[in-house]
Amino acid sequence: MFVERIDFSHEANLTIDELIKRAEVLLPEADLSILRRCYEFSEKMHTNQKRSSGESYIIHPLNVASTLIKLKMDIDSIMAGLLHDTVEDCDVSPEEISKLFGQNVAQIVVGCTKISKIKFKTKEESQAENFRKMVVAMAQDLRVIIVKLADRMHNMRTLQYVSKEKQTAKAQETLDIYVPLASRLGINSVKADLEDLCLRFIHPDIYYRLAEKIAMKKRERETYIEETHGLIEEKMLEYSVQGEVTGRPKHFYSIYKKMQQRGVDFEHIQDLLAFRILVNNITECYKVLGIIHSAFTPVPGRFKDYIAIPKVNNYQSLHTTVIGPKAERIEIQIRTFEMHEVAERGVAAHWKYKERNKADAPGNKLKWVEELMEFNQSAQNSSEFMDAVKNDLDVGGVFIFTPTGDVKELRYGATPLDFAYAVHTEVGNKTVGAKVNGKMVPLKHRLKSGDTVEILTSKTQTPSKDWLKICKTSRAISKIKQYLMKVERDEHRERGEDLLEKALKKFETSIKTLDKKSEFKPVLEKYHFKTLEELFVNIGSNNLPLKEVLVAIPSVALTEQDDFELKDEEKEKELDSYYKRVSKTARKSTSKDNAVIVDGLDDIMVKMGRCCNPIPGDPITGIITRGRGITVHTAGCTRISDLDKARHLHVEWNKHYNFAHPVNIKVTTHDKPGILSKISKSINNVGINIRSAIARSMPDQKGSFIFEIEVKDYSELLKTISTIEQMEEVISVNRA
Ligand code: MN
Repeated sequence: MFVERIDFSHEANLTIDELIKRAEVLLPEADLSILRRCYEFSEKMHTNQKRSSGESYIIHPLNVASTLIKLKMDIDSIMAGLLHDTVEDCDVSPEEISKLFGQNVAQIVVGCTKISKIKFKTKEESQAENFRKMVVAMAQDLRVIIVKLADRMHNMRTLQYVSKEKQTAKAQETLDIYVPLASRLGINSVKADLEDLCLRFIHPDIYYRLAEKIAMKKRERETYIEETHGLIEEKMLEYSVQGEVTGRPKHFYSIYKKMQQRGVDFEHIQDLLAFRILVNNITECYKVLGIIHSAFTPVPGRFKDYIAIPKVNNYQSLHTTVIGPKAERIEIQIRTFEMHEVAERGVAAHWKYKERNKADAPGNKLKWVEELMEFNQSAQNSSEFMDAVKNDLDVGGVFIFTPTGDVKELRYGATPLDFAYAVHTEVGNKTVGAKVNGKMVPLKHRLKSGDTVEILTSKTQTPSKDWLKICKTSRAISKIKQYLMKVERDEHRERGEDLLEKALKKFETSIKTLDKKSEFKPVLEKYHFKTLEELFVNIGSNNLPLKEVLVAIPSVALTEQDDFELKDEEKEKELDSYYKRVSKTARKSTSKDNAVIVDGLDDIMVKMGRCCNPIPGDPITGIITRGRGITVHTAGCTRISDLDKARHLHVEWNKHYNFAHPVNIKVTTHDKPGILSKISKSINNVGINIRSAIARSMPDQKGSFIFEIEVKDYSELLKTISTIEQMEEVISVNRA
């Protein structure tokens, strides 16, 4: 009795009559005339099409349908098997299939077509994993995968007719994608079959050597199998256990894998034979194991109990290796008939059980099949069943292609922005648009498995708070938050340093001077700050009132009672209103109204750095800030030199811009009465507006003034400075 695995060989003369005859055995109560209608439709559509073998095309769908019958699939799957290439190869619309043969069949055919269109690229293991998950995600209905496996199996069986490159590519794809899927779904008959076919086309030398070797000893082997077989049956009879014993050579791929694992040559591979004993129940499985182990010597370390601990794909069996009657190793698998059914057909077995009436379901049915059935009855819908399997396969999302064909897995509901961040943080940060399958879509567009997404970027783009609402993946969300927090911190630091510097100016000193003298030490200690930067951030974010800082600096000697804060706040308010004005103008979309031109963008908000007050003529750099668009600093501004270079932006002065810019000048004079009004007058005389002036007497009979004036450009500033310099009381004039 040489019962081999299910025979999936190509049948060149298979007819629809024969196919229906086989289907009748499987589905005795079904009306199978529908199969003939599927056949006639498919045959008509594929007229004039030929297989690479030269046969008419229809022989392919016939063989695929036959495989599905062998796997005991349902009528919808068999119909889909006959029709599976009509949408892809004959331009039949899914609607037409739905109208003629029903929605279910149409959906399976559409699923197969979608998977056919995936361009597999399997140079990396992780990519192969993603492709497998994608196939599952796109299938929606598990039957799609099983029909696809049947399709692939027949294509592999007729692969000798295509070019050598195509052979290797197809076989590798099969090994990377379809073999693991068949294995995961527990369809071992298909898995073993595909593996041998892959070996044949990927390593033909090894395959044919193995084939030759096994053929050479054919007679000897058959005799040996027969003898051992008889021996096992005899022993079982002795203990009155009834069962079915089969023996066969192992499949090639498993021999090849053993050769690789053990690093040995074919000559040294001993256990080429495998026996299988099928019995009625689990108790008998263990009983037979005892019988085998007492009749033959077991090889230590080779016993495996997959009944107590099933494999993840629910495979159950006892495995052992013993020294056979001629001192050769033989592998023995012991399992129940039902376990065998599941082992050969895996998930496919589910449909067989599903179609049985609950009343005549066997009492000792396998637990997982039972669970699936129960699940299916309570769910009443196959999509929930599919979800259960997807869960099992860890398919949690959608699978998206990059334009170069790589695959990214994203969670359900992911948008192009999520995809951009999955590709690279910098791509995400610079995203301005996206094309899905060649068409422009909004950034909040929901992606589907199989979409090819192209991200459009601009070097001036920056993430915004709104993006947090668009993104669904935690990676994208955390990257955006990181960016926003960094910008906010930088902004606070910038503002804090700015406020402190301005305040210190009133005390004729600067951050730099005080830092040199370690005057900030008491402040830092008081508030437990490690760096000056931390101090700036806290001032800038209004965590720490400026006055408290000034009070804590020894040489400033401000007291709690001094009226400092109010004036400063007034000045801030005044400045703010000015900046709002500038921002407002800068926001207008005509480039004429922008103070600076930002890389071709004309509707971006621009403000001038308060630290350096750049004026037209100054070399400038733009800094990207959060919410407020772009801040323009002089190129030499110390504030920007240590900022992230990625936030620097090329900007240019707009020659057509006619508004004045504020700039501070510091004038040192001999302290004489009326000097302030004298300087003010001379500034006004050259047509320059003064926004504010701060005067301070100094110990050595000198006066010091800071004027905030408004100039249109650098030449106006120079003109003003030289006018003041000409006054005899004036010692020096500098831009502050
Ligand atoms: Mn096909």
